[in-house]
Amino acid sequence: MKKRLKDDAILFRIIQYSDSSLILKAFARQQGLVSLLAKGIRKKAEGSLLSPLNSYEFSFYGPGESELCLLTELSLLKENKLSHKIEAWSAAQCATELYSQLFLTMEESPAWFVLLVEYLDYLEKTEGRAILIWWRFLLRVFKMLGTPLEPGICRLCGKALTSPAFWERAGASSLCGECLGSAYDTSRYARLSPMAVRILTLLPRIGLYLNELNPDGESVAQLNELFSQHYQAHFHKALNLKSLGVLEQFYS
Ligand SMILES: [Zn+2]
Repeated sequence: MKKRLKDDAILFRIIQYSDSSLILKAFARQQGLVSLLAKGIRKKAEGSLLSPLNSYEFSFYGPGESELCLLTELSLLKENKLSHKIEAWSAAQCATELYSQLFLTMEESPAWFVLLVEYLDYLEKTEGRAILIWWRFLLRVFKMLGTPLEPGICRLCGKALTSPAFWERAGASSLCGECLGSAYDTSRYARLSPMAVRILTLLPRIGLYLNELNPDGESVAQLNELFSQHYQAHFHKALNLKSLGVLEQFYS
């Protein structure tokens, strides 16, 4: 007999399974990523409570041989307020896509759950410039993955970057203008836009600067590439997030 479980979860995706049933992809506090088969739910009132990014308490029978859990009950804990903020919604979707790609153990799940809840709450509270909040979130993700990225610091001298500053694609590391001269192969470094440098140095405290910074298309493209390369350098796979393309469009 499979164990009956109860867990808080953020709903990621709703997939149509049959005329009456759905599969719910969610990230649960204790269980991590789960796929829940909600039998007959499309004909029940509680089906109307389902919407991505909301928080629920789900009761379900744990996964057996198949990955699919059987949902028995659900209650809505918190409705997200992002559906009218497309930019913030896209930034939230970046996180759900990322979580769907990470391989996390059950012991790690509660900490990742809290990180996600805090991120979604923050996106709800703030207006605009959601990409800055996304990058701040990515810094936390990298730290939790054990591959911290020190933004805005020269890799060689350790000083805070000022413009002009450069970055190396392969290792996603940054160099100040002074240290570029002593770099082994300067052709591997590309110049960061002044706005990208400013954002990188402020990123750990970005909440204080959300209204001052206006990321332009060039900076957004550079920083997305820098973070993506950092991920690639450590995990040997691309950080492939469809929603990031949508988010970028707000800055082009
Ligand atoms: Zn330096």
